Order: sequence, then structure tokens, then C-alpha cells
Amino acid sequence: MTHIIHRNLRTTPPVAAGAKGIHIFDSAGKAYLDACGGAAVSCLGHAHPNVVAAMHAQIDKLAYAHTGFFTSEVSEQLADHLVAHAPKGLDNVYFVSGGSEAMEAALKLARQYFVEIGQPERTVFIARRQSYHGNTLGALAVGGNEWRRKQFAPLLVDVARVSPCYEYRDRRDDETPEQYTRRLLKELEDKILEVGPERVIGFCAETVVGATAGAVPPTQGYFKGVRELCNRYGILYIADEVMCGMGRTGTLYAVEQDGVVPDILAIAKGLGGGYQPIGALLASERIMDPIRNGSGLFQHGHTYIGHATACAAALAVQQVIQRDQLMSRVRILGEHMRTSLEQRLGDHPNVGDIRGRGLFMGVELVKDRATKMPFDPDLKLHAKIKAQAMNNGLMIYPMGGTIDGQRGDHILLAPPFIMTKSDIDQVVDLLATSVEQAIPALTE
Ligand code: PLP
Repeated sequence: MTHIIHRNLRTTPPVAAGAKGIHIFDSAGKAYLDACGGAAVSCLGHAHPNVVAAMHAQIDKLAYAHTGFFTSEVSEQLADHLVAHAPKGLDNVYFVSGGSEAMEAALKLARQYFVEIGQPERTVFIARRQSYHGNTLGALAVGGNEWRRKQFAPLLVDVARVSPCYEYRDRRDDETPEQYTRRLLKELEDKILEVGPERVIGFCAETVVGATAGAVPPTQGYFKGVRELCNRYGILYIADEVMCGMGRTGTLYAVEQDGVVPDILAIAKGLGGGYQPIGALLASERIMDPIRNGSGLFQHGHTYIGHATACAAALAVQQVIQRDQLMSRVRILGEHMRTSLEQRLGDHPNVGDIRGRGLFMGVELVKDRATKMPFDPDLKLHAKIKAQAMNNGLMIYPMGGTIDGQRGDHILLAPPFIMTKSDIDQVVDLLATSVEQAIPALTE
């Protein structure tokens, strides 16, 4: 009998007893190849000696000091490191303990900015239908998961919605990618005008969509268009890179590949690589300057912000990424994984799309490739593939359709950056086997 409120209240998952490199071991000694880093977290794999040593040293020196009293050397160093590698202009860092907290802080900072510059009538965020921004009430409100929001809807602020950028599903056959991008940007502009630009705080979007659709990258020019619209109407662009940031897509921040700089950028997961819970937001001087010269206080805070041990873990993770030139490795391995997936699964009658950037790839499963018709959501194919994969000793991140259940089943792969090409081939092979086992079982 467990006393923990597990995710599934009716079953207890296997006990993770140890982990090393790219494997987690359960209490029976079974090894699981970690091809998703949990939820795109474990970018350096497990028990990395540099990170473990840095944490030990920090705990011996200073485990924690409340930020109401002190700053710490290690949190200052981590902030310096993040800014030094960030898109130009994102010069300010606020540390939190995870992704939802990062988005929550981003929403509040954006609102406070407009209050401080004398525009308190701005109260509305615009966000996309297929998106996930976290599970706290503010982050849940901007997220597009209807099923997550449903029972909490009366507690959530209203958010204006636009379509996601999801070429595989939504680009019409008679449209070029450019026309599709223009249609989406027109929809966003229309929404800004419908709400009234003077009432809008900002537009929130994941640069590469993660937990709701399986590594869906934007079309070329989409975020450039978003940036232009935000500039034109004086609204803030808030990029959520909690999942896709910190090198996952082959550049430290995914927006680098889209050639844009958001006003606020939220990160977590790969920031600390799972060694400690840590997230952060990066904010431009445009936002911070009026607050610094106004009230002088960001009206927010948590007990564990800037936690010294968490910052030490994150700093060590980020230093290893730079030292070992893991960004170029992610790009090379990502291309290898794409080719390997296409070779092994590209012709599978139920694989509709293989997509992603870097070591952040998604496989979308469909009942019918020609019509892109998804499997019946009640069959929960994604969960069945996950169960098969766990049997086969493989960890993958599954997700089901999230817009009225009509968006099909997806598998997300986000393996540690330290894998080799042959590790990646093993991941793809085990995944293909798991898919081949799970799909016929649906009709038995
Ligand atoms: N934003 C995005 C894009 C995410 O993928 C997640 C988590 O999956 C979150 C926010 C929330 O992060 P956390 O679970 O650390 O609170």
C-alpha cells in the first residue's frame, strides 16, 4: 500500500532504484534506456560526475540562503552564463524551481510591466490552442489543453486563443508553407484587433511545441511575423522554451534558429538537467528598466528562488554543454535520429509524420496515412506504446490528441545529448518494435 498520490491512483509505477549515463534501473535490476529524459529533462543523462561533484561542493559550502537576505556567488555566475549565451537583449534572469513557475512568473512580470508604464487596462493574454505552459492556475489558463483545463475553468483567467502552427495537420493542400504562415499571422493580427491592442499584454507560444503535439516546429518566418505583430501593436512576445530550450533543438535557445528575440523567455527542464529542480525567465531591459525605475520590486517570489545547490547543478550542466561542444553533437545526432526514424518507420502505414529539431523529435501515429485520420482516442494508443516500450526497456514520452481528442497520438523522443549514434539506433529499433507490437494489439 502506497501513501503517495501517484499520477495514476490505481497503479504504482516501477521503483527507480538507480541511474547511470543513459539508463535508469528499477528495483528488480531491469535497465530502461532513457530516450525522453523523463519529460525532456535529463540532457546529460544520469549521474554525470561533473554535476554530482559541483553539487557536493556547493552543499558543503552553502546549500541555501534565502534571497530576501542574500544573493549567492553561484546564482550570479549562473545568471551571467545564461545571459552570455542568450539572444542579444535578454540581460535579466529570475530563478524559480520549474517550468510552471517560470511561466507563472513570466505572466506576472508582463502584467506588472504594463502597470508600471501606466497601461493597467492591459489584462489579456493571447495563446495558441495546441499548447502546454504548465499546471499552476496562471500557466494552465494560457495553455491550450482543453482536457486539462476543463474542471478548473471557473478558476482561470480568460485567454484569447489562436491556432497553433502545425503544418502537418493544418496546412491546406492548396496552400504553400508561406501562404499557410501568412494565414496564421493574419489570424493572430485579427485576434489582437478583436480584443483591442490596448487591452493585450502579450502573446505566449512554445517555440517548438512539446507536450501537446510531439516536437512540432514552426514554419519558416512564423516567429519573425509574430515578433513584427507584437512590435506593431506594442504587445509582449513571451517564448516558452521550458521543454525545447537549453540546447534540446541544437542551439541553446530554440528561437535562435528563428532569428527573433522575445521580450521574456521561460526555461526549465534541461537547465538543471534533472539534477535539481530549477527554472528561470530571461527578460529584456525594455521590461526591467521601467520596473527598476518605478516600484523597484518585482511583485513575486518563492522560498526557493535562486536556490544555491540548484544553481550549482545548473551551472555545472551548462558548463559541460559548452565544454564538450554538445550543441553541435545535438545537431549531428538529431539528423542521425531523423534518418534512422525515417528508415525504420517512414513507410509504416500508421506513421503519419516524423518531425522535430535536434534531439527533440516527434512521431505522429494515424489510422490512415492518406486522410491523416487519427486512431479512436479511447484506444489510447500512445499509452499502449509507452507500456510496450517500458516492457522492452525503453522510456519514451507519449501523448494523446488534445484538441477535442482529434489530434491523434504522438510519441516524443528527447534523449540525452551524450548518446552515441548506435544508442540512437537502439532507441529507434526498440521504438519501432514497440509500435509494431502495440498497433496490432488494438484490434485483437
Ligand atoms: N511549459 C512547457 C512548454 C512544458 O513542456 C512544461 C512541462 O512539460 C511546462 C511549461 C511546465 O513545467 P513544469 O512541469 O516543470 O512545471
